[in-house]
Amino acid sequence: MGEKTQHCLLLLLCFSALVPCSAAMVFWTAVVEISYANSNNQTVDKYCECGVFGRNSPLEKASGIVTLPKGDPKGCGPDPVFNRNSSSPPWIALIKRGNCTFSEKINAAKRQGAAGVLVYNLDGSGNSTTHMAHSDASDIVAVMIGNHQGMEIVKLVKNGTEVQMLIDVGSAHGPWMDSYWLYFLSIAFFVVTAAAITYFVFISANRLYSLNRHKRNERKLKNEAKRAIGRLQLRTLKKDDEETSNDSNMCAVCIESYKAGEVVTVLTCDHIFHKTCIEPWLLERRTCPMCKCDILKALGVDDETKDHISTDSPPDVTVVTVAGGEPLYEVPLTDPGSFDPESHQHLYDNRAFEGDSEAARG
Ligand SMILES: [Zn+2]
Ligand SMILES: [Zn+2]
Repeated sequence: MGEKTQHCLLLLLCFSALVPCSAAMVFWTAVVEISYANSNNQTVDKYCECGVFGRNSPLEKASGIVTLPKGDPKGCGPDPVFNRNSSSPPWIALIKRGNCTFSEKINAAKRQGAAGVLVYNLDGSGNSTTHMAHSDASDIVAVMIGNHQGMEIVKLVKNGTEVQMLIDVGSAHGPWMDSYWLYFLSIAFFVVTAAAITYFVFISANRLYSLNRHKRNERKLKNEAKRAIGRLQLRTLKKDDEETSNDSNMCAVCIESYKAGEVVTVLTCDHIFHKTCIEPWLLERRTCPMCKCDILKALGVDDETKDHISTDSPPDVTVVTVAGGEPLYEVPLTDPGSFDPESHQHLYDNRAFEGDSEAARG
């Protein structure tokens, strides 16, 4: 398994762990609307999206007259008295948090026929709410509101005001829905994407660079090989040559015996091969197929290239005068051994590489 695949799997695993976790963190707000007649007999309507539906509550509307427990405002114990029952007009129990579980409070009100339960928070908690868990009381609308909001309604009811309440479904909230989370996620997504793109661009550029360098090297070596091949000695075999007289003398590249009239190339190690066989071989490998002798090293071509790159100056030449004062050959000073009229003649025999050879010598 590649490293990239492993990273992708790890990322998927993280996301799959986040999804159920975040689903549990999603909650629904409730719109709580009250309406009552004040002392001047005017109808007052108040409305806020300040409730939070309990985890096990159905997401439904509920409406009715707000009713408080008669004794303990926390509505605990086996049967708290609400002074209402299922035959009364629809009513909503307003109970204070504490003393017993949410399920116990909700179930007690449900048993007495409440259409819904509104739990308000403890004293001193301001308008904060919690996401109630009430797994044992799941089929009745149960909403929590803050202490201040709850106490305001309690006061009205205690004063003998009939408060009509409507609970409605608000909106969903959670890690994926809050604007803060959306903002955070967009930035995280942008950063991860940018990092991934940068990484891939870097890797691709690196690969492209290596490939180009490799190709450049290959080209350079091929040019050097061409130049070296241009300097190798060529011979045209004759009938009475040792190579043609004995069938055991074979070209190691094509495994065929030499025949009179064939042109052979003599490598620096004195091994001979058909010219047409050895030249493509040397272009690719640059070594003798039999003894692995490196022709570039033997002819000093690679050093020449280095010198050429470092100084970029033409090689020194000397003029050798033979027979009657005519300048016949120009030979590089660095290679006095090549001053051999015969081998020089052979250089010109190898016409395929003559141009490169001449160019290399400036
Ligand atoms: Zn051959
Ligand atoms: Zn050899």
